[in-house]
Amino acid sequence: LHVEETLVAGQVVGLDHGRAHFLRTVLRLQVGAQVALFNGRDGEWSAELEGLGKGWASLVVGQQRRPQAAEADLWLVFAPIKRGRIDFLIEKATELGCSELHPALTRFTAVDRVNTDRLAANAKEAAEQCERLSVPTVAPPRDLGKMIDAWPEERHLLICAERGEAVPIGEALAEASEAGLGTHPWAVLIGPEGGFAEHELTALTRLPRAHFVGLGPRILRADTAGVAALTCWQAWLGD
Ligand code: SAM
Repeated sequence: LHVEETLVAGQVVGLDHGRAHFLRTVLRLQVGAQVALFNGRDGEWSAELEGLGKGWASLVVGQQRRPQAAEADLWLVFAPIKRGRIDFLIEKATELGCSELHPALTRFTAVDRVNTDRLAANAKEAAEQCERLSVPTVAPPRDLGKMIDAWPEERHLLICAERGEAVPIGEALAEASEAGLGTHPWAVLIGPEGGFAEHELTALTRLPRAHFVGLGPRILRADTAGVAALTCWQAWLGD
């Protein structure tokens, strides 16, 4: 379970209503049960359930099970898509090791409202499920043009686009791996269902570390494209 508190032996941690309900009614845990806790900073700790009631639970932190390991600095920048598909994308991006999730508003983005609280909750749940020791942050939605203007120079950007100069993703990543770029900061960019506008592609071309990549001959849904690109990144540059 993800908690905010600092994790040290003997620390008592209280759980909110939803989590207490989950432990009691879904997992059917009882006082004395062992639960794993993480906060994104102190690694994973075992904790004993010392009290459990309707809507509350408290745990006493025991020993550290795993230290906090360094994780990839990998962002997913994505045009928001409709509910269901965006939830799937957030879940998979978390499982596939993204450190930050950035909704980008593009010319052809059809979804104009993004519930970042829901996305953050999805990310937290997915992090717990896949046993990673951090939860990716969800940034507020920003205009893609503004993101490009403020793009950090050192961050490589894998731009998934079906356009002429795109190279197959495997080729681009094999070259990046050869060049030892696995430890550099990276981001994957996925466009909306309507694709990128020409002026957006032109602006992206100006980024110093832009890599236009293709994901094969078929047009993938945005959520499929995100999963495919992140999987490839992990295969070539991940640990
Ligand atoms: N009609 C749109 C177009 O022609 O650009 C299709 C957009 S596609 C449904 C959504 C996003 O997924 C694209 O903007 C791109 O980022 C990514 N994508 C889908 N298939 C791809 C492929 N074969 N190669 C690279 N990117 C792809």
